[in-house]
Amino acid sequence: MSNRKSEIEANLVDVKSRIEKAAKAAGRSVDEITLVAVTKTFPVSDIEFLYQLGVRDFGENRDQDGSNKAPQLPDDCIWHFQGQIQSNKLKSIALWADVIHSLDDLSHAKKLSSLVADQDVFIQLSLDNQPNRGGVAPKDLDSFAQSVAKIGNLKIRGLMAVAPLDEDPKLAFARLNLLSKQLVKTLPMASEMSAGMSNDFEAAISEGATLIRIGSQILGVR
Ligand SMILES: *Cc1c(COP(=O)(O)O)cnc(C)c1O
Repeated sequence: MSNRKSEIEANLVDVKSRIEKAAKAAGRSVDEITLVAVTKTFPVSDIEFLYQLGVRDFGENRDQDGSNKAPQLPDDCIWHFQGQIQSNKLKSIALWADVIHSLDDLSHAKKLSSLVADQDVFIQLSLDNQPNRGGVAPKDLDSFAQSVAKIGNLKIRGLMAVAPLDEDPKLAFARLNLLSKQLVKTLPMASEMSAGMSNDFEAAISEGATLIRIGSQILGVR
């Protein structure tokens, strides 16, 4: 086995055991939690190692990288787009991304709906009142979600968020959890939570994340 593959394997084993521990501490089953390996900036050879190690969910932030990498991996991979959406890239993103995590603009939702028959999306929620970092403000979430739900061709799986830099992630993810529970009352299918990265995934798991997005802890510093 190459050095790089054994390095990735050791990191993956470590992350999985931390996921298991965090799930157990929260009284949850690990089966409820999907690990997305965020492979942005890393080469296809690393993704192939992860595939050989059983990982099937991969995340990319840029259309150019995802559209290049996805066709090079087997068909049973599930590709996640979690970067900022540019309207003129939506058509291309929809071709390779099985799941789009960063929907926060109604015009994007409408355009996407005209391009696809069936697209899984997460609505990105802002937890820090800094609109430039992406995400719908909590006060606008309900009306935004209802509008997206009416558009058609889009399956809202739930909420996605990134924890603010200057706050305990557990507090931020607790707000996410609360808003998620409120949303589910009107949109029962939107019950998932995409939250948690290398530095805060345990906090996200304790607050109900069903999908965690981990890059550097598995693949190293970018
Ligand atoms: C890069 C990125 C990740 C992974 O971050 P790590 O800190 O490397 O685990 C997760 N989510 C989003 C939205 C990202 O941009």
